[in-house]
Amino acid sequence: ALPDAAGEAQVRADDRAHVFHSWSAQALIDPLPVASGEGATFRDYEGNAYLDFSSQLVNLNLGHQHPDLVAAIQQQAGRLATIQPSMANDVRGELARRIAEVAPGDLDKVFFTNGGADANEYAVRMAREVTGRRKVLSMYRSYHGGTATAISLTGDPRRWRNEPSDGSVAHFLGPYPYRSSFHAESAEQETERALAHLEQVITLEGASTIAAIIIETVVGTNGVLVPPPGYLQGVRALADKYGIVYIADEVMVGFGRIGEWFAVNHFGVTPDLITFAKGVNSGYAPLGGVVISERIASHFDTVSFMGGLTYSGHPLACAPGVATFEVFERDRLLERVRDLGSRVVGPRLAEMAETHPSVGEVRGLGLFWAIELVRDRETREPLVPFNAAGADAAPMAKVAAACKQAGLWPFVHFNRMHVAPPLVISEADLVRGLDIIDAALDVADAELA
Ligand code: PLP
Repeated sequence: ALPDAAGEAQVRADDRAHVFHSWSAQALIDPLPVASGEGATFRDYEGNAYLDFSSQLVNLNLGHQHPDLVAAIQQQAGRLATIQPSMANDVRGELARRIAEVAPGDLDKVFFTNGGADANEYAVRMAREVTGRRKVLSMYRSYHGGTATAISLTGDPRRWRNEPSDGSVAHFLGPYPYRSSFHAESAEQETERALAHLEQVITLEGASTIAAIIIETVVGTNGVLVPPPGYLQGVRALADKYGIVYIADEVMVGFGRIGEWFAVNHFGVTPDLITFAKGVNSGYAPLGGVVISERIASHFDTVSFMGGLTYSGHPLACAPGVATFEVFERDRLLERVRDLGSRVVGPRLAEMAETHPSVGEVRGLGLFWAIELVRDRETREPLVPFNAAGADAAPMAKVAAACKQAGLWPFVHFNRMHVAPPLVISEADLVRGLDIIDAALDVADAELA
């Protein structure tokens, strides 16, 4: 389709007639036809440019049309477009080695999948096989993917109409200092009480039945919930105490989003398995995987692993993954993300929290932040109710519309707006985007009147 009015009409017509969209009532949506993208910006067919503050689905870490990633795919396509998984392949092996080099501890082997949900499916399968146990614990306020076990692990409303798909899952409450389930008055109390709660759930569910605990290292879509100091160490200790496999879901926060290759590196913990996807190649081709510790990998040295995918370690997906490592190192992106987060985004959001009565809390790390909007700062009543839809969600929709009107594509979930731009965004664009959000928050403030 050409980037003109006729082209746009055709894109819309084909989409509305034939494309069945994710997580949507098909007749109630109006997908934006996108004509092009470059860096942190994409354009519609009418020439409107949007700063992509949601990095698509928080996967576009290196931005649209990064020349190194595009060249890597083009060169790989010209050399060897595909090869099946049981053969050895240079880019697949190189990417696995590069991932093992930046993963903590003895996580040295990689099983490649097509995305994040299947990475979690396979991580759980490995944990079940190694422990001989079945049950998995995961958090309320989490998202782990749309497939059978991954949606069961998920602790948000997307699970509700998909139950039961994997009956061997139990949920627990994680730390969330701003809305503490444990009546905690400090981060230390939150850590201590959330760990006591987790241990109680382990005991009540039966430690000897639990194969794995899966946790998003920083909870993503459900709120950019940064664990308070000591929490993940405590999870590690409980997993060790009860012989449970600790799986870190880093599908959203891995590959630089918070300024580390893996977010667990920031917190100084070593899980048994790490799942990844998205940022590994900025979503230029479908790719995810499981990074596997020696203890778990060696279980399968002489026993076959019963799992696989035709496209495991697809060369057209791995080639931009290798290029991703080269770009991060050459452009010192991890340092850049930490700097922009602590010097630009954090202070500016803190300022918005001062000036806008609708802002209850801002929190985050690197280029991964949430602005939590409330009706009342004292009671912390959310600006829109949990799982709000339609008219109930209107106040947030108005804030999002104000952002789009001003040229920024926001990430909005329930009563939160997240700030998750591509890691390559220029500082000027980052500041411009924050200016747009600052102005749009006036719309939220007006809802309080
Ligand atoms: N885990 C987390 C933390 C995610 O954010 C997502 C997707 O947003 C997934 C898993 C699922 O990944 P995918 O959509 O690639 O299956």
